[in-house]
Amino acid sequence: EKQKRIRNFAIVAHIDHGKSTLADRILEMTDTVSKREMKAQLLDNMDLERERGITIKLNAVELTYHAKDGIDYVFHLIDTPGHVDFSYEVSRSLAACEGALLVVDATQGVQAQTLANVYLALENDLEILPVINKVDLPSAEPERVKQEIEDVIGIDTSNAVEVSAKSGLNVDKLLEKIVKFIPAPQGDIEGPLKAMIFDSIYDDYRGVVLSVRLYDGVVKAGDRIRLMNSGSEYEVTEVGVNSPHPIPRDYLMAGDVGYITASIKDINETRVGDTVTKANNPTAEALPGYREMMPMVYAGLYPTDNAKFEDLREALEKLKLNDAALEFEPEVSQALGFGFRCGFLGLLHMDVVQERLEREFNLDLITTAPSVTYQVDMSDGSVVEVENPSEMPDASAIKDIKEPYVKASLMVPNDYVGAVMKLCQSRRGDFVTMEYLDDTRVNVIYEMPLSEIIFNFFDRLKSSTHGYASLDYDVDGYRQSDLVKVDILLNGDKVDALSFIAHKQFADERSRDIVGKLKGIIPRQNFEIPIQAAIGAKIIARTNIKAYRKDVTSKIHTGDPDRRAKLLDKQKRGKKRMKSVGKVEVPQAAFMAVLQND
Ligand code: GDP
Ligand code: MG
Repeated sequence: EKQKRIRNFAIVAHIDHGKSTLADRILEMTDTVSKREMKAQLLDNMDLERERGITIKLNAVELTYHAKDGIDYVFHLIDTPGHVDFSYEVSRSLAACEGALLVVDATQGVQAQTLANVYLALENDLEILPVINKVDLPSAEPERVKQEIEDVIGIDTSNAVEVSAKSGLNVDKLLEKIVKFIPAPQGDIEGPLKAMIFDSIYDDYRGVVLSVRLYDGVVKAGDRIRLMNSGSEYEVTEVGVNSPHPIPRDYLMAGDVGYITASIKDINETRVGDTVTKANNPTAEALPGYREMMPMVYAGLYPTDNAKFEDLREALEKLKLNDAALEFEPEVSQALGFGFRCGFLGLLHMDVVQERLEREFNLDLITTAPSVTYQVDMSDGSVVEVENPSEMPDASAIKDIKEPYVKASLMVPNDYVGAVMKLCQSRRGDFVTMEYLDDTRVNVIYEMPLSEIIFNFFDRLKSSTHGYASLDYDVDGYRQSDLVKVDILLNGDKVDALSFIAHKQFADERSRDIVGKLKGIIPRQNFEIPIQAAIGAKIIARTNIKAYRKDVTSKIHTGDPDRRAKLLDKQKRGKKRMKSVGKVEVPQAAFMAVLQND
């Protein structure tokens, strides 16, 4: 039976432990891609992924493995991102698989995301096959790392394979292990179609392309399918697999991972986590679907050109198909005009969304400083959720403000525990406990405000531990804090997009800092611009940007009209990312100044 020859597995690991490189070797050794096509981190096919050297999107590929028993097995391999912001991609990948390769760097051992991924795999009842990677490096300690996996994670490592994803050493052994160790899917091919949408993307020609895992039944072109959550029906135009390029197939069956197109143009009808079935023979029950993700941070996204508002809406809708964690709703800012308040899983996610909107949809955007969601208890007994600092109600009407807290797990070598605790303390952290992972490393647990973790914390952690610490966190409820809203006034006008929330104790210092930063960022204009920070009516910091009188072009004495034109052009392009706020031209960087609170 065909299903017995299928193996579905995801590759999970802490960032940089070698998932994408291992996927490369597997693709290469199974001749899925030709030598000519092969390049490093092949599955990271977005420009953004290649430039940054990180995986952002899950990627499912089908390949054929000719095993030692003489049988050809069909593997569906899903490469996943390692960064905490993209763990939603990982959890969906895992739901489409029976097993996971847990890659652990032999020079680094178990890290915070290693553990987080193991929990996700266990939640999905997956078989976990440990893969000890980078054994080619002189500092590799595969035995110690295996012991650590047993002690810290509590999974058996007798099946672990020691590989070098870079050189390909032992990857052949790993392929055999996958066949033996990871169970075949056990769907009912005869039953009614039951498939889970785990990803999707909008294609201008084919409409929505659904990435699916089939649990029961068969699907082929011409079938009438129903999306169970939305109830909408479509006729399938094509089914196929990515290998890694799309290859149309006659049908997909229970156990398969592939794609379905059905000329779906209405973006709002498709949702990741929905179940696909057949209209004439529907399955009785939908699959459980995925946990909805709660955004951790919110920021405003505004087109630099106000006329592009509808374009931005369309772009966000299309991008959401491929980024299920993205949330947005329209908002209006006095300073920036019409835009959207968007919810993200973290700052990297926010950064990636902005870049994808600009690159894939050709937009120029201004992002405002991100903020967490505050819960405000009003004096009249009502509760207000505030996602935008400028909408914080007047202090006189507020009883108290609660902010989200996280439980943070920091894995660090013993030598850096002091530095890490100092950092956490400076970010309003409360120490919870400390567990020894082995005699060289510790897992330190802190409870901290989410806002303190989101802004710059990770970079600071890396620099104060020479890159040796790893971090994972989960939201852990709301707590009352002594918070105030600080407004920024430019030329006497309050700029709503620059308002921020700070802890009372740090409000003065941060305000002085931000006012100083804005002075450096906002270009001089031909009049003096006062910058002020205020809590309510009370000014707590101020400075002035001096007037600038000279005409830039007057500096060019050559009178070369070509050079003059070029200079003006350059100035114009520099202005693209500017917004006129009242009479003042404000560049993008100004809106981010509130972030750099160091
Ligand atoms: P990912 O974040 O888990 O997908 O990691 P990548 O596959 O992008 O690899 C991160 C870095 O580790 C890259 O620079 C790889 O070249 C390197 N790397 C991956 N596997 C090995 C290995 O087996 N040996 C060595 N020496 N380097 C490796
Ligand atoms: Mg990767």
